[in-house]
Amino acid sequence: MVQNVDIESIVQQVIANMHAERKAESSDLSYGIFERMEDAIEASMKAQKKVHQLPMEFREKIIANIRKKTIQYAETMAELGVKETGMGRVGHKILKHKLVAEKTPGTENITTTAWTGDRGLTLVEQGPFGVIGAITPSTNPSETVICNSIGMLAGGNTVVFNPHPGAIGVSNYAVRLINQASVEVGGPNNIATSVAKPTLESADVMFKHKYIHLLVATGGPGVVTAVLSSGKRAIGAGAGNPPVVVDETADVKKAAFDIYNGATFDNNLPCIAEKEVIVVEEVADELMYYMEEAGSYKLNEKEVKRLTETVLMNRDGKWLLNREYVGKDASVILKAMGITVDDTIQCIIFEADGNHPLVVEELMMPILGVVRVKNVDEAIDLAEELEHGNRHSAHMHSKNVDNLTKYGKRLDTAIFVKNAPSYAALGFGGEGYCTFTIASRTGEGLTASSTFTKSRRCVMAESLCIR
Ligand code: NAD
Repeated sequence: MVQNVDIESIVQQVIANMHAERKAESSDLSYGIFERMEDAIEASMKAQKKVHQLPMEFREKIIANIRKKTIQYAETMAELGVKETGMGRVGHKILKHKLVAEKTPGTENITTTAWTGDRGLTLVEQGPFGVIGAITPSTNPSETVICNSIGMLAGGNTVVFNPHPGAIGVSNYAVRLINQASVEVGGPNNIATSVAKPTLESADVMFKHKYIHLLVATGGPGVVTAVLSSGKRAIGAGAGNPPVVVDETADVKKAAFDIYNGATFDNNLPCIAEKEVIVVEEVADELMYYMEEAGSYKLNEKEVKRLTETVLMNRDGKWLLNREYVGKDASVILKAMGITVDDTIQCIIFEADGNHPLVVEELMMPILGVVRVKNVDEAIDLAEELEHGNRHSAHMHSKNVDNLTKYGKRLDTAIFVKNAPSYAALGFGGEGYCTFTIASRTGEGLTASSTFTKSRRCVMAESLCIR
């Protein structure tokens, strides 16, 4: 009984201290947004000390409120994201936020390994890195901020973001929401922080700062190379150019509709989305027929040339994306080419050779070049070439397990979806959890809270083995 009273008074004291600290924090209503990167890191460091003291149950309480608020404000963030970046589809972005809220792993993903025996008890616990520096993309801006924050917090970390400048409004909206969610349930402020104006210089401050022990970059090849060159431990979630192969054993109609749905999801912005199709000639016409039926506009040869000139720019023999068309509706891209369609058309398809720039480049537009090949071996060879060694994502429609196995082994990607739209890999219509940071280059694959922890061995000699 006496012990219970003591515990109660300790709890009351802790709560009183937290209230007092929160009062002081409430004068800081920026909820995680700072002018200077140095201040964002300093605040994050202070918040991490508090987070590390919180019981796991309390971390879960904060995470539960982040999930709730993400669902509550999914529409607002989806609209903000499309408005600010000019990319993607509001309806699909709402689904992406709900997916993040519902399927991003929390503390349950963090496990312990134990050995017991004559020498006692040894545990390997997954502890936090501390303050994590994260770089986020313009293509899934608030989704990535929320997904990273949940996973990193579950691991006992706090996170400092240097978001994409072109998506700063919606990214920082998400950062504020995360802190509001924490403060609302009695947790610390600044569990996620960011800067008002992210630049390459503010990223550099983050890369070099002594309090940052882990960097996580979600974006194109430039930023992944930058974090991997920082001298710190880094997780690199880089670019992909996912091929989808269809062989003669596939359910061709289903394959056509799945490919259409995957490639048009948020106008092809997800890095995992089907970016080119390679089909065995025996079923190529049938596949194209059903892709048109699903809602694709098929271009003739002249139109393919116009499309190339519209969405790509050739600079000294190198193809660059015309960013104006990244993540745009198919009808907007077609309109720029002088073709008017309504919104039932959400994809542009055409036949091309495997070396066509619209097939080779990662477009992030609802555009699919379809390459016809003789057989599955030729398809696998070409798919490997078009994936460019990113080892990110590759998909296949087939009922032949030997072909599926051969493709999976050869492409060696973090994600391999069979007989479904690519988004099944994110837990949307497929089993498994969700993430928007797929560490293709550094090999962690689909990141989760355990990815953001480090292994710590705890040894008790001679005792606690009760076998
Ligand atoms: P981007 O590479 O233009 O920008 C990503 C982030 O990196 C931004 O915050 C940007 O400001 C920053 N950045 C770029 N170069 C930098 C440098 N040298 N130093 C510091 N920061 C730098 O990408 P984007 O257009 O926003 O997103 C699309 C790209 O990201 C595509 O290539 C896509 O495949 C990839 N992506 C990958 C994943 C994944 O999980 N693997 C997820 C989303 C997007």
